[in-house]
Amino acid sequence: MKTLADFNWQGKIAVIRTDLNVPLAANGEVADSARLDAAAPTVRAVLAGGGGAVVLSHLGRPREGAADEALSLKQVAAAFADALQHPVNFCPSFESVRAAPGGVLLLENTRFNVGEKANDSNLARRYAALGDVFVMDAFASAHRAEASVEALARAGIPACAGVLLTYELIQLQRVTSRIVRPFVGIFGGAKISTKLALLRQMAALCDTLIIGGGMANTLLAAAGQEVGASLAQDDMRAAAQGILAEADGRLMLPQDVVVGARGQPGREVALADIAPADCILDIGSASAAQYAGAVAQAKTVVWNGPLGLFEEPAYAGGTAAVARAVADSAAYSLVGGADTIAALRAAGVLERISHVSTGGGAMLEYLAGKSLPGVAALAA
Ligand code: ADP
Ligand code: MG
Repeated sequence: MKTLADFNWQGKIAVIRTDLNVPLAANGEVADSARLDAAAPTVRAVLAGGGGAVVLSHLGRPREGAADEALSLKQVAAAFADALQHPVNFCPSFESVRAAPGGVLLLENTRFNVGEKANDSNLARRYAALGDVFVMDAFASAHRAEASVEALARAGIPACAGVLLTYELIQLQRVTSRIVRPFVGIFGGAKISTKLALLRQMAALCDTLIIGGGMANTLLAAAGQEVGASLAQDDMRAAAQGILAEADGRLMLPQDVVVGARGQPGREVALADIAPADCILDIGSASAAQYAGAVAQAKTVVWNGPLGLFEEPAYAGGTAAVARAVADSAAYSLVGGADTIAALRAAGVLERISHVSTGGGAMLEYLAGKSLPGVAALAA
């Protein structure tokens, strides 16, 4: 895979696919500029090398073929210029556009273009005609085979990875191929069905697998434990039993839990005392202490999925206790997932995580052992 360093940018125009898919407030203002900051280094590197940039990104989920004012990237141009510390010119149409060295053009939402989602090679060639080299930097979109992500890497101009994509892949290697052990995986979230491949892959790699959230209920039920009225997926029983067998001896499931209901205070109970009407909404304090102990021994930690209904303070305690243990440990820690990041931010420890991934879906697919189309196309 080529990177920015493989090219002499003097006088060259880079067509950069980046991820400016930021949350917008009701008035159209950028509500969180983290993704703009993450996208800036690649554009700055091209400018510093004497080149110019044509920047492509999607924003939200518009209907293809129709321009939707509410999802126009025009709203992001000024904030992106702030992040870059460099002027940005917004171009509503990308026909007959030509950037100049030293300039940054931001094109309209790629998902307005017919053929973007279908990975159309004709559309990709029209993108390629805008510059000399394609720079793929949208890690958060790398798991989607769309024209500006995948087909553009095969559209007739050289292609390479940008700063952010390169950095994210190096972080992922630390939890997949260059692991410093002991390696502890922490997994939670609502449904086990969305994360089966991830759990299988991680069961094979981790020294200890810590489980909470709704997926713990499904695993407990598959092991014959009464989980009452908790969120558990009965149809996932066979798959859950497969994971119990695969990770046997390395799997940590809750030994106590907090039961309750939304908007109500919780009650801590041992597993043996779960009644048919009980709903498990967090791990208990003994489990949290045991999990924290395992984390303290780790040299590498990967985490996706809150361990309880963290949106409600009554059920956020388990996630927060384990989050503090991760922050306090000397281990390299990689976390990702929108809800996981929200939970760790709420626990006040996000700044003490080694790497917070900018791509939840892309990270999960990579960790599940799947090839990312936007990365595979660069290797070809
Ligand atoms: P991420 O976005 O980090 O990948 P998920 O979307 O998979 O995480 O899971 C987060 C959701 O799981 C949160 O809304 C949380 O409330 C929910 N959740 C966690 N534990 C439970 C539980 N025991 N019962 C119901 N929902 C839960
Ligand atoms: Mg989520």
